[in-house]
Formats: sequence, C-alpha cells, structure tokens
Amino acid sequence: MSSMRTFETPSATDQKEAVESMFNAASLGIIISNSDGVIEQVNPYTNRLFGYEEGELVGMKVEVLIPPNLRGRHVEHRAKFSQNPRTRSMGTGLDLFGLTKSGQLLPVEVSLTHYERNGRKEVVAFVSDITERKRIEGELKALNAELEKKVAERTKELSQAFMELQQTNQDLEQEMEQRKRAENEVRMALEKEKELNELKSRFVSTASHEFRTPLSAIITSAALIDRYAAPEGEANRARHVQTIKASVQSLTNILNDFLSLDKLEKGKVELAPSRFPFLDFVREVVEEMRALTKPEQTIRHLHQGEAGEVLLDAKLLRSVLQNLLSNAIKYSAEATEIRLLTRRVGSELEMAVEDHGIGIPDSDQGHLFETFFRGRNAASIQGTGLGLNIVKRCVDLMGGTVEFASQEGAGSRFLVRLTTPGARS
Ligand code: ADP
Repeated sequence: MSSMRTFETPSATDQKEAVESMFNAASLGIIISNSDGVIEQVNPYTNRLFGYEEGELVGMKVEVLIPPNLRGRHVEHRAKFSQNPRTRSMGTGLDLFGLTKSGQLLPVEVSLTHYERNGRKEVVAFVSDITERKRIEGELKALNAELEKKVAERTKELSQAFMELQQTNQDLEQEMEQRKRAENEVRMALEKEKELNELKSRFVSTASHEFRTPLSAIITSAALIDRYAAPEGEANRARHVQTIKASVQSLTNILNDFLSLDKLEKGKVELAPSRFPFLDFVREVVEEMRALTKPEQTIRHLHQGEAGEVLLDAKLLRSVLQNLLSNAIKYSAEATEIRLLTRRVGSELEMAVEDHGIGIPDSDQGHLFETFFRGRNAASIQGTGLGLNIVKRCVDLMGGTVEFASQEGAGSRFLVRLTTPGARS
C-alpha cells in the first residue's frame, strides 16, 4: 500500500516554483507590465523572440515591441484596457506584428489578462510566434491561387477545345450538307435521265399505237378502192378516198404534235409577236376547227369587251386555240355545244373553251399538262397526251397562265389569260 500516491494541497513555495518553471520554460512569450505600459518582467522566450538580452526589456514601455506605425493606437488601447481590464485576445481578426530589436516584423498572436499585485494592476500579455502558421497560410494561399490559375487556364483550354469541337461539328455538318446536295443533284440527274428514257419509250409506244389505226384505215380503204374500179363504184371510192384523207390528216396532226413539242422542248421556238385583229383571227381558227366537229356538234364564239388589234405571237396563239378546241371536240359527244368565250378588258385578254364532254377524273387533274399523259377515261379516244403540254408551253412563252375546271361526266372549262397592249382606237 505504500506505493499509493496521495495528492496534497501544494504549499505556497511549491506553487511559486511551479509558476516560475512554467514562466521560464514556456515556448510562449509572457510579458508582465504595469498599467502605464512599463515592462516589469519578461520570460526568457520573450527575449529570444524579440532578440533582447536578459533584463534589457525591463523598464521599457511595451510599445518598444510594437511597429512604430501602430504604437499610437496601441497606447490608446492600453489606456482603455487599464480602465476596464478583462481577459481577451488582442486584435482578433487582424494581422498583428511585433517588432524585434533588430527591427524585423514578427507575426504574432497576443492575448491579454490582468491581476493585482500589491494593490497595483498588472497586465500579462501572452505572445505566440505565428511565423510558421503565417508561412503555411501564405503557402496555402499561393497554392490556392496557383490552383485557381490552373483551373482558369484549364477552363480556358477546355472552352477553346469545346469551341474547336463545335467548329469541327459545323464543318462536318456543312460537309454533310454539301454531300447531301451533291447526292441530290446526282439523284435528280439520274431521275431526269430515267424520265427521259421513260419519255422515249412512251413516245415509241404512243407513236406505234396512234399510227396503227390511221395506217390500217389507209390500207383497208386503198384495198377497197381497188375493188370499186368500175364507174358505178364511184360513190364508194369517194368515201374511201375521204377516209384515206382523214387518216393522213390524223397522222399529220400526230407528227405535228411531236414536232412542235420537240421544237418547244429544245427551246427552238422564239416569241414572234405581231399586230393582228383579234376577232378575225379567232373566227378563222374556229372556222378551221368546225371542219373537225362531230355530227351536229357546234362551236359558238362569244366575245366581250374591246375588239381591235392585239400584239401577240399568232402562231403560238393558234396552236393554243386549236389544241383546246380539238380536245373539246374529241372529248364531247355529237350534238353538243362547245363554247369559246373571249373577253378583253384593257390589256387583259381571256379565252375560255367550255364543253359538256366526258370531263376529267379528279385523280387525273394534277397530271394533265405532263407529256404523254392521258386521262383514265380517254383511252378509247385517239390522242397522244401532248396537246395540253404544248398549250402550257405556248402560254408560258407568251407570259400568260392556263387553268381549268372539270367534272367527270359533266364537262370541262379551260381558261387562258394573256396580256396584250390595250386596243388602239
Ligand atoms: P390528248 O388529247 O392527245 O390525249 P392532251 O394533252 O391534249 O392529249 O390532253 C391530255 C389528257 O387530258 C387527255 O388524254 C384527256 O384525258 C384530258 N383532256 C384534255 N382536254 C379534255 C377535255 N376537254 N375534256 C376531257 N378531258 C380532256
């Protein structure tokens, strides 16, 4: 049991010794000064810290340890502290500096306390050297700044790279666009080629089909004429000669269609406007077309507005009227009336051809002006599918428009609009 330690209340001498050894060994500056700021006692660490010899600081004012520019303020603070002393740290949040004997600045942290000795106020300052902490803080700050710089640089690099990537993307898109366009062009050229080939084969089949009927009629009629060689066969002969003439005419018409389309397609037709009296011209064309009408079919021409001369390409205009009227004749029955309505107001000239024929099926209406296009309900009626295409091209050349309205089984109306200088009185 003798080894058991007991703690006794230390004697005053023990306490003094303990405080003294703490005072001497502390790695913290301890400065005791009176209320006037006169240093009374410093521990050895303080001397080492500030570079003073032992005993040198005693009797000096504490301001000697403070950089000159802060001394004035320190004196004020010190006076206040003496009036209202309490334990506190000094300059919290501020960077405090001490001044060594050799005039170097020393980053420090100071806390203050006080006590009374022999009825006088004594101030105790604890001074820690925070050079190392400041150095580390400084390094940290520098490191941080370096890091921030690096981050900024990296961000810049990244955004640069991003922009380059975007540019590359755009370039790629443009390239793709161009490639697509080129592909499209090739595809279109191929399609055009295909269309041309189709057109050619359609031409061959139309030509062979359309030529067969008049040619066989010619052969049959010619053979029959031979049989009616005797004078009494005169009437029959005349009938067959008529058939031959009509067939040849129909062949000529078909050939003419091909030829004029070919010319129009190759751009060989040039606009050749001339002045001519409009009504006379229309009457003449109508007269010609009357020769082609079916039994009891009539063509009625009605004109509204000014008469007089027009300045137009007569050849093209004739082709337009002939084609529209011949269609109206072809696609309507015997004993029906075809109307040609012309109207002229100022420089506006309208020509409408109306019939009560077979009309055009809705599904065909979008293709009417295409080369070789023939309506579903027109198969049994002779035709090449070129007439309306020729009409459209002629009207286009003259700077006009052509439109139509039609109902299957009820009839059709084609309307051409042209401009020509107003009639001269
Ligand atoms: P074609 O008369 O030689 O067939 P077009 O180009 O003149 O050639 O006409 C194209 C097609 O339009 C015709 O096959 C026909 O189906 C339709 N069409 C044109 N005009 C008329 C009309 N007046 N009435 C009914 N159908 C018409």
